[in-house]
Amino acid sequence: MIRLAIQKSGRLSDDSLKLIRECGISFISTTSKLKTEATNFPLEILFLRDDDIPGYVADGVADIGIVGQNVLVEEGLQRLTVKNLGFSKCRLSLAVSKGDTYPDVSSLQGKSIATSYPNLLQEFLTSKGVTADIHTISGSVEIAPSIGLADAVCDIVSSGSTLISNGLREVETVFKSEAVLIANQNLGQEKNRLLQQLLFRMEAVQKAQK
Ligand code: ATP
Ligand code: ZN
Repeated sequence: MIRLAIQKSGRLSDDSLKLIRECGISFISTTSKLKTEATNFPLEILFLRDDDIPGYVADGVADIGIVGQNVLVEEGLQRLTVKNLGFSKCRLSLAVSKGDTYPDVSSLQGKSIATSYPNLLQEFLTSKGVTADIHTISGSVEIAPSIGLADAVCDIVSSGSTLISNGLREVETVFKSEAVLIANQNLGQEKNRLLQQLLFRMEAVQKAQK
């Protein structure tokens, strides 16, 4: 039996469940429960918050998982990546107030920036030679400038409409992300065999979609 961790409810959930089903795996999806067992493959599915998935897979609480690269890399666990999955594409971007002038990234020197991704942001700023004051907050990052909490924000964007509706303007792409399959690095022979079977099926699904 191999244990897969997926997001319980959010922007990764539907496509994660769909991928498993497209691999020919049947299960009763009751997301009110924390876990479920597949009926035709030795697979157990755990439903978790996305932020907890990399750590659980690293620790072996789950054997494999599906998570966004933004969360995985922020947590410093990109070494767990097995396969890019091509859904939940988004980017981590810097945005400033619509009326602010922004000639280039040096405009952020000495400014305060609110984000839920301090490590990815710090890495970007360092690569640009910019020093800023990073405020880590866990949610509603986009309202920070309007309430005077920060000069700029660094947040996840897909269409950009949330930024615009909060009076913000996207100025830099910090990180590009999609969903990835991750695996514990000491799976053992039997679980590795099951992972290879799953990968084989996922690749067939991806080929059929091209
Ligand atoms: P949880 O309750 O599990 O912690 P969350 O609120 O942190 O959920 P979601 O907003 O559901 O997370 O986003 C989960 C992941 O989906 C993000 O980490 C990112 O990889 C991706 N994602 C986020 N926003 C978008 C978007 N607008 N479009 C596509 N994918 C996105
Ligand atoms: Zn989360």
